[in-house]
Amino acid sequence: MGNGDMMGLMWGECEAKNGMHFLGADTCHCEIIHPGTGEVIAPETGVEGELVYTSLNRECQPLIRFRTRDHVRVTQTQCGCGRTGFCIRCIGRTDDMLIISGVNVYPSAVRDVVSTLAPDTTGEILIQIPGQGPSVAPPLKIKVEHGQVPGDLSLLKNKIQTLIREKLIFPAEVTLVPPGSLPRYEYKARLVEEV
Ligand SMILES: [Zn+2]
Repeated sequence: MGNGDMMGLMWGECEAKNGMHFLGADTCHCEIIHPGTGEVIAPETGVEGELVYTSLNRECQPLIRFRTRDHVRVTQTQCGCGRTGFCIRCIGRTDDMLIISGVNVYPSAVRDVVSTLAPDTTGEILIQIPGQGPSVAPPLKIKVEHGQVPGDLSLLKNKIQTLIREKLIFPAEVTLVPPGSLPRYEYKARLVEEV
C-alpha cells in the first residue's frame, strides 16, 4: 500500500503475513492520529487511527502532516522477519466516520459485526445517510445482504439490529437485500451512500 500524493509503495507484507510493514522511514515520517481530535497515537499493537504523512526529503511542494483518510489498525510492532517498521492493516476510510447521538461509528465496524452472522449474511453492507454527515440522526439505515439460505428474514433482521445495538451502541434500521446485489470494490470498499 502507498499513497498517490506521497509515495506509491510504502507498506508491504512479509512472510509472517501479519499486516503490512512500514517501509518508507527514510523518506516519510508516518504518524497515526485520532481522526476526530487529531491527537497523535503511538503505534502500539491494537491501536487504530488515521495515517498522516510528512515528507522528509522532498524539496518541491513537500507534504507536511498530510491526512490520508486511511483508517488503519496496528497489527504488530516487532516481527520475526527482522524488519523494524510497525505493521498495519487498512480497515477503511476515516472520512466515512459517522456520528450517531454523539457516538463515533465506523462503517467498517458495522461490516465486521454483520460479518459475524455468516453464512446468514454475506458480510456486504451499504449504509444510507441523508445529506453529507458526519452527524446522522438515529436509527442508521443499513442495507445488508442476506445469505443464500437465510431462513426467516424478519428474524434475521431483528438479530442484526440487536447485535449492532449491543456491540456498537446505536440503533439501526436494517433492510435485507439478496446476496450479490450490493456493489463490490477491489480496494477500500465504499460503505456509505448519501441518499
Ligand atoms: Zn515481518
